[in-house]
Amino acid sequence: MRAGLGSDIHRLGEGCKLMIGGIEIPSDKGEIAHSDGDVLIHAVIDSILGALAKGDIGALFPPEDIRFRDADSKELLRHVLLLYSPRIINIDATVTLERPKLRNHIEDIRKSLSAILSIPMDAVSVKAKTAEGLGPIGQGEAISAECITLIE
Ligand code: MG
Repeated sequence: MRAGLGSDIHRLGEGCKLMIGGIEIPSDKGEIAHSDGDVLIHAVIDSILGALAKGDIGALFPPEDIRFRDADSKELLRHVLLLYSPRIINIDATVTLERPKLRNHIEDIRKSLSAILSIPMDAVSVKAKTAEGLGPIGQGEAISAECITLIE
């Protein structure tokens, strides 16, 4: 058994899509990024790479590589799964975002990740919290995610 930790943070801006765990969340602000900016999937990727001690998402998909401009993060995750075929036991993630509230989207996010990772929904934990108005996340300027993955 091996555990891996991943985290990510992105700026939020008007006119950008808010992608979380492979689904688009209705919002007036979204992630500013060179890919689709899905912080949760980026944290999941880094946690898998971490468990395998295979570096990080930036090494695998360099931001300066134009092939990954506006990339669908689901495809980046699928690429990592194909590359290393990890046997994932479970993931546990936390997304920190001031608004919108994610409560009504958590099940869809879990379903999306469960499908991409090919593991049951009860092996996919996604929690959402706010930053209590503190710092850039609390001011609605950023979104972050953390994930732990256990692989066999
Ligand atoms: Mg990222």
